[in-house]
Amino acid sequence: MNTKNIDLDITKAESSRLPEVDFDNLTFGKHCSDHMFLCDYKDGAWQTPKIMPYGPMQMEPSAKVFHYGQAVFEGMKAFKDDNEKVWLFRPEENFKRINISSKRMGIPEFPENYFFEGLETLLKLDSKWVKNGDGNSLYIRPFVIATENGVSASPSDAYRFMIICCPAKAYYSKPVKVLIAQEYSRSADGGVGFAKAAGNYGAQFYPTNLAKEKGYQQVIWTDANTHEYLEEAGTMNVFFRIGDKLITAPTSDRILDGVTRKSLIEIAKREEIEVEVRRIKVNEITEAHKQGELKEIFGSGTAATIAYISGFEYDGTYYDLPNLEKPYSTHLKKSLQDIQYNRAKDTFGWTREVKTT
Ligand SMILES: *Cc1c(COP(=O)(O)O)cnc(C)c1O
Repeated sequence: MNTKNIDLDITKAESSRLPEVDFDNLTFGKHCSDHMFLCDYKDGAWQTPKIMPYGPMQMEPSAKVFHYGQAVFEGMKAFKDDNEKVWLFRPEENFKRINISSKRMGIPEFPENYFFEGLETLLKLDSKWVKNGDGNSLYIRPFVIATENGVSASPSDAYRFMIICCPAKAYYSKPVKVLIAQEYSRSADGGVGFAKAAGNYGAQFYPTNLAKEKGYQQVIWTDANTHEYLEEAGTMNVFFRIGDKLITAPTSDRILDGVTRKSLIEIAKREEIEVEVRRIKVNEITEAHKQGELKEIFGSGTAATIAYISGFEYDGTYYDLPNLEKPYSTHLKKSLQDIQYNRAKDTFGWTREVKTT
């Protein structure tokens, strides 16, 4: 890890907005912490990064991000343990991934030392925004946008890398019902599905709205060619439990390489739960359902950690999932959160303390 000190211009907020935030009634992503990190790319180089008070910024209407969607993002979390220490979970994975996404979108890669110095300084300034207690966290949103002015359809020669942070609360996540996609697709071979490219998410809203009208909160995406293979659930990776075995699709250029997914695979292996990483067909789960062998389906991602799925519709038929007494998902979620909140020994070396003093 490159931790060489860098120049960082810091302008502190005059006062904190923290007292204005009602932590008992938080809407995810609505409030941002006092400061933000930003770094501009121009003349072929990333300029001196800055931390400044969170607030609006001026851009020209012709800025390329508004026209061609040249934008990528990340999602990660900071956790506070019972001794007021702040922890990041596998942040180097998010750093690597934003550059993978950037590369695919023709955006220059961001330097590692800028990322970590910026992130850790930001968290130090806004450490009071990280609340302890199970499920509480500070959601961290790094992103990059194309800022060159001019509406010609060509890659931008100017970019802005930013990090903003939003407090997130423990929420009781109700099990969701999902619709298995048979018409729309999230991503295609050779496309950008593996990247956290902004347009991937905008493109999901319409088919997800249609699913909502039918009473489903999310769509399980299938492969664009045949709609036979199960790929992702909304903006999460997805696991299926058949009998005592967990199955999840291998990552590819259509499937995002989720940090939660790969962490759960390792935790499951440690706990001697059998995991198969392989392609899985819709008719395998409908068959397993008929045999009474389909026990659980859950999504995995940083925002929700694990989202339990209570049932799904496919081809006009609704399939209800059993209400297990000891689902793998509950157990795995607890094991993962114990590591994230520094309640259990992190034998994997995943957590990274942020010095806040
Ligand atoms: C972000 C994301 C995930 C989950 O990734 P994590 O690193 O676990 O948060 C899964 N699928 C898609 C499409 C995503 O955008």
